Amino acid sequence: MEKVISGLVQFKSSSFEERKALFADLANGQSPEVLFITCADSRIDPNLVTQTEPGELFIIRNAGNIVPPHAKTAGGVTASIEYAIAVLGIKHIVVCGHSDCGAMKGALNTAALADLPHVQNWLDHSRAAVEIVKAKQGQATISELDQVTKQNVLLQLDHLRTHPAVASRLGTGEVDMHGWVYNIEHGTVAAYDEMQQEFVSIEERYASLIEAKAAASA
Ligand SMILES: [Zn+2]
Repeated sequence: MEKVISGLVQFKSSSFEERKALFADLANGQSPEVLFITCADSRIDPNLVTQTEPGELFIIRNAGNIVPPHAKTAGGVTASIEYAIAVLGIKHIVVCGHSDCGAMKGALNTAALADLPHVQNWLDHSRAAVEIVKAKQGQATISELDQVTKQNVLLQLDHLRTHPAVASRLGTGEVDMHGWVYNIEHGTVAAYDEMQQEFVSIEERYASLIEAKAAASA
């Protein structure tokens, strides 16, 4: 904790000072373009990985980057999604899973979660991902962790479509969705390509966007 406290003291005199104009700008409002849903895992830093600044990502984090399907009962994830879409006018939603995810390991072995009833209950939102992998591979064990992680991202994108605020804007093309998996060891992100129906590199998935950016800055 000492490190966190001394970091706070240092922040004010270094990073904050360097970004003073940005923070002055952000003091009275935000207009992020991207809703970033990822795992609570301490090894993921959404701003670092995407090289973005405060104010650019609206972030929802929880164990397993889960989006419960829309239901009448209010939940933190649902309320945050509704606010991001309806009030902030978010244009893109990213669901980002990651390598070595403890939540996905838990989903693969729910029997081991007997003493963690809330975790077990929460990971029920990932059960279909495990079942899909089991049906495709004939088994779902720790060696299928990668596939389950990817399938879980796709499942949570499906769940997102059940939220009225998201569904209506998907229908009009005002919102786009992206499924990513971040690899902690290699610093890479695999992105789901709807056309190929598989996860490919960021360079491949966003080739036209990257080319347009390069052409613009040339
Ligand atoms: Zn995780």
